[in-house]
Amino acid sequence: KKEQVEADVLVIGAGPGGYVAAIYAAKQGLKTVIVEKDQLGGTCLNVGCIPTKALIRSSEVFHNATKAADFGITIENIQMDMAKVTEQKDKIKDTLVSGIDYLLDKNGVRLIRGSASFIDDKQVLVKQGKDEYTIQASHTLIATGSTISNLNLPGIEHDFVLNSTTALQQKENFSSITIIGGGVIGMEFAFIYANFGIKVNLIEYCDRLLTMVDEDVSEEINTIAKERGIHVHTGAKVTRIEQDQDGHAVIVFEQGNQERFMTSEKVLVAIGREPNLKGLDIDKAGILINDNGKGIAVNEHLQTSAAHIYAIGDVTNRIQLAHVASHEGTSAIDHILGKAAAIHYDMVPNVIFTSPEIASVGLTEQQALQQNLPITISKFPFQANGKALTMREDKGFVKLIKHNDLGTIIGASIIGPEASALISTLTLIIQNGITEEEVIHTIFAHPTTGESIHEAALELGIGALHYH
Ligand code: FAD
Repeated sequence: KKEQVEADVLVIGAGPGGYVAAIYAAKQGLKTVIVEKDQLGGTCLNVGCIPTKALIRSSEVFHNATKAADFGITIENIQMDMAKVTEQKDKIKDTLVSGIDYLLDKNGVRLIRGSASFIDDKQVLVKQGKDEYTIQASHTLIATGSTISNLNLPGIEHDFVLNSTTALQQKENFSSITIIGGGVIGMEFAFIYANFGIKVNLIEYCDRLLTMVDEDVSEEINTIAKERGIHVHTGAKVTRIEQDQDGHAVIVFEQGNQERFMTSEKVLVAIGREPNLKGLDIDKAGILINDNGKGIAVNEHLQTSAAHIYAIGDVTNRIQLAHVASHEGTSAIDHILGKAAAIHYDMVPNVIFTSPEIASVGLTEQQALQQNLPITISKFPFQANGKALTMREDKGFVKLIKHNDLGTIIGASIIGPEASALISTLTLIIQNGITEEEVIHTIFAHPTTGESIHEAALELGIGALHYH
């Protein structure tokens, strides 16, 4: 079958960037077509955000069960079954994927399955099996996301070497793993496995973990990781992976001019992702890539070098976060509709789902100092928060940065219980220029972890009331 399709908006890729943009466009009366070559929901729903969080929850249930005695509860014979953990994760994912199918349909978005490529800047070809669609749209959004970067390392081909996708498909229990990469994905997996009681080694090339977060937070998570039995090696470079007589992995790395090695049953490579441009033929549409040679170049309205074609999300190789992809999607549609608003890239909340969680928004202390801003810093520990104590999760702190001349909060970093939920409040505070005073005069419910935001604001001035 061959079909000519016309649309106001064509979206290529149904990840959190593409499917959100398509629904948003359709809700505003635009005739919208979305093309997806694989699963609806993209990386995020199928092999990213959601499945990792499902695994984290499983691992926390297991870990809490082993600590049940602390809560006055006896549980005997606690077992973890990786096949069942994976199965329950897949059910959650499937529910969400079919939810997107329903939403696209309900909003009148036409879904075409297949792989899209540009014929020229006006037409896109989609092929699936014997079917061929030629789509002509007034505006096109490229939302093809990213794929796992390959690491060119001797021994990478061994079966025991996993990446973030294959790690989510494991069906057998194992007892030890070495994670290469102490970034967001590597750290989330490190805590998943540590919670399951699996022995974890972690090798990071840089001299600290999670280089994007505030240095205090990075130090705190390093300490907590070590307490949890994760063997962290920073400033270390993996040179090769071998197999020993038992079939286990031998990971050889250089650290401080010394060659060292460690062994484990599995290896997880978590070194990053890169834009997915494969088969898209963007050059036929005159679309240019970024100066760094990766990702599609866009202006502040997300327009590519062909002005009626936009690129959003991971494919632009700027910020790899689902909520940024979605926001860029709706912003591009707003621009098409002539009602664009600026995107606050400096106020994107960032969450890392370690145990405890890490979340930040606005500036880190180091960034504020680099900009020579007049700042005051406060830190309130969860140790002094009643709710955290009842949860028996009293590690970490809320750290705030105030601009002295303006009185506004310009940065927040949290490591501790419910950090992922708390950061939304701080995002509202920071984006809307709310002052220290205004936060102090706001009533925070008791007992909640949110009170630590109030206390950290007090700590900027007269001092927290429940600390010292
Ligand atoms: P994607 O989600 O990658 O979707 C792109 C879609 O386009 C895919 O479905 C693909 O099949 C399709 N496609 C590609 N090429 C074509 C083509 N030629 N024709 C048709 N279809 C095509 N982010 C967070 O914010 N929070 C998290 O907790 C989080 N956890 C993560 C954990 C892991 C392990 C990983 C890997 C990522 C995580 N991320 C997280 C990042 C997040 O998944 C991405 O930022 C997000 O998915 C990007 O969305 P996107 O729409 O740009 O692209």
